[in-house]
Amino acid sequence: MNQFETILYEMPAAHVARIVLNRPAARNAQDTHLLYELNDAFDLAAQDDEIKVIILAANGPHFSSGHDLMETDHKENFDAHRTVGTWCGMACGGAEPTMTRERELYLGFSERWRNLPKPTIAQVHGKCIAGGLMLVWPCDLVVASENALFQDNTVDMGVCGVEYFAHPRELGSRKAKELLFTADWLTAEEARQLGMVNQVVADDKLPDFTLSLAQRIARKPMFALRLAKEAVNAAEDAAGRQAGMMNAFNLHQLCHSHNMQVHNFPVDPGFMSKTFSSSRAFSDNSTKD
Ligand code: ZN
Repeated sequence: MNQFETILYEMPAAHVARIVLNRPAARNAQDTHLLYELNDAFDLAAQDDEIKVIILAANGPHFSSGHDLMETDHKENFDAHRTVGTWCGMACGGAEPTMTRERELYLGFSERWRNLPKPTIAQVHGKCIAGGLMLVWPCDLVVASENALFQDNTVDMGVCGVEYFAHPRELGSRKAKELLFTADWLTAEEARQLGMVNQVVADDKLPDFTLSLAQRIARKPMFALRLAKEAVNAAEDAAGRQAGMMNAFNLHQLCHSHNMQVHNFPVDPGFMSKTFSSSRAFSDNSTKD
């Protein structure tokens, strides 16, 4: 039944959909096509009344290396795909094209997935870097394997954090700053202690544990699940979540504009040359912004 090229759409049990990132050779780097397919897959699960819980998982050794640095035609691909945003296309000048693309593809999609009216569970193993966090954080629950590692290395790129800026809410302010300032890895157990991860399980138990959790949730009344999620999300928004995130997104755009003025490139080219000079670094860490 799979209708996607970069995503697997599975129904591993009654009332459970499992969306699987399926670019393992690229460490599930996110290009424009994958992100639109992922959005379509979430829509498919959300609009199917038989589905009550959605799992987001990944094939290969790592969950996601972030945004795909190798996509050189990302502007053309965005203009060809874009369906959600109503800002200008990539032909506009100045700072607007980057802002409009990132507002739809990164901030917009992550916010949209966060608000899907069904419980979602991220099933994370291996490395989850920068843009990878923007797939995990919008999910309601996060189950991580013992080997999972999380990183935001965007400051190394001359940028002040990923576009969906949930760091303070997920980690607390001090740990958020440490993650951003150092780009150190956060282990699954550290993430659990901070409240970013719900459960840490043995690597070989991850799929079964996550599916079992989804099945337990799927036995509950659907409308109550929807409204429980809505109630928690609304409480976060009442506490200023959206305003803080929007401010950070705008500062992120300022970073891109600054880099364009200083380096004639949206991120610090020092990071880019370091990344491309090492095939190992690229295969494990291809995040751009
Ligand atoms: Zn960006």
